[in-house]
Amino acid sequence: MDSHTPYTFSNRANQLTSSAIREILKVTTRPEIISFAGGLPSADGFPITELRQAFDTVLATDGRAALQYGPTEGYTPLREWVAQDLSTENVNIDVNEVLIVSGSQQALDMLGKLFIDVGSKVLVESPTYLGALQSFSVFEPEYVAMDTDDGGLIPAEVSTAKAAGARFLYALPNFQNPTGRTMSEARRQELVERCAAAGIPIIEDDPYGELRYKGTPQPSLLHLGRKAGATVVRLGSFSKVLAPGLRLGYIVAPAAIIDKLVQIKQATDLHSPSVTQMAVYEAVKGGFLQQHLPTVRDLYKQQCQYMLDAMAQHFPDNVKWTRPEGGMFLWVTLPEHMDSQELLHKAIERNVAFVPGEPFYAAGEPKRNTFRLSFVTVSEDRIREGIAILGQLIREQM
Ligand code: PMP
Repeated sequence: MDSHTPYTFSNRANQLTSSAIREILKVTTRPEIISFAGGLPSADGFPITELRQAFDTVLATDGRAALQYGPTEGYTPLREWVAQDLSTENVNIDVNEVLIVSGSQQALDMLGKLFIDVGSKVLVESPTYLGALQSFSVFEPEYVAMDTDDGGLIPAEVSTAKAAGARFLYALPNFQNPTGRTMSEARRQELVERCAAAGIPIIEDDPYGELRYKGTPQPSLLHLGRKAGATVVRLGSFSKVLAPGLRLGYIVAPAAIIDKLVQIKQATDLHSPSVTQMAVYEAVKGGFLQQHLPTVRDLYKQQCQYMLDAMAQHFPDNVKWTRPEGGMFLWVTLPEHMDSQELLHKAIERNVAFVPGEPFYAAGEPKRNTFRLSFVTVSEDRIREGIAILGQLIREQM
């Protein structure tokens, strides 16, 4: 029998809990399960041929640099590409304002280290992205829940006494995870003005912005914020526009914030993989995304429509849901007295899975009558079958 000496975890480590989604995903790996629970992009949208070519070109032409350590800030041509991609006629993003990271998830962890002391106020949308809560929680903030409605975050919330002195506001303006909601331009404008006035920096997390398949593109908080004098830290990712296995994203922020983040990143992993950064640059430099993104958008739009049609057919009238203009998720609200956790137990017995709403609420009363559905990886037939089963179970529980 193996034996080992005793060990003591840090208090910080002892506080960690496994994500509610991970526990559900364990069940959903069974092939018979129709899972609307995962947050994976569709592998049908991965540009495998182009990435294979890009890696091949990089290794063939610049293999020694591609396999060598590189600067913490990231591969300069890729940083320049990001800066240029985000620059407009009125807003210039400098290369010194760009840091390449290993996915925006790493950015969330680094920003937690940068801004949060024990007990620091952090403003979050209610509900919000669970992965951000996991990253921030390690640093023991005091979360303040910002109210939302069908138009997303309600800007006046940041001017209230409960928000005063917050280290930052974490906002997801496009096709929010988990709700699929989008903030209007008027709200964005009001939000950056209020944050500028209140001295609250904004972290704008936007991995899905390029996956808009309906409606009108909205200006980013970064661009509006620059004009309004707000501090905005914008997170972008190659996970949803190329593939998440690349683990590549970026932070755009004022140079003084980037400088501090570089010190943090150095301690974390020195830099993101050179070969991957060079291959992604090789893939995107000639405008490949403009060619590729319409395919992904069409795919997601179609998948979303399958689910909306099935819900219209099978869900009772007193159930409400969001109609996303992009991204991968929609949000269901059951009548007040119902509990989506109970529905999930019944659903799993019938081989259907989703994520109940509760873990997405960082503070305040969670709305237990809500849940998240992810629609991009399930086939049309199985979406119909799964939604029909959910509709039946909801009726039974009413
Ligand atoms: N932010 C949000 C809102 C997300 O949904 C995700 C992925 N699920 C991430 C950040 C992390 O993405 P990545 O690290 O792959 O860039």
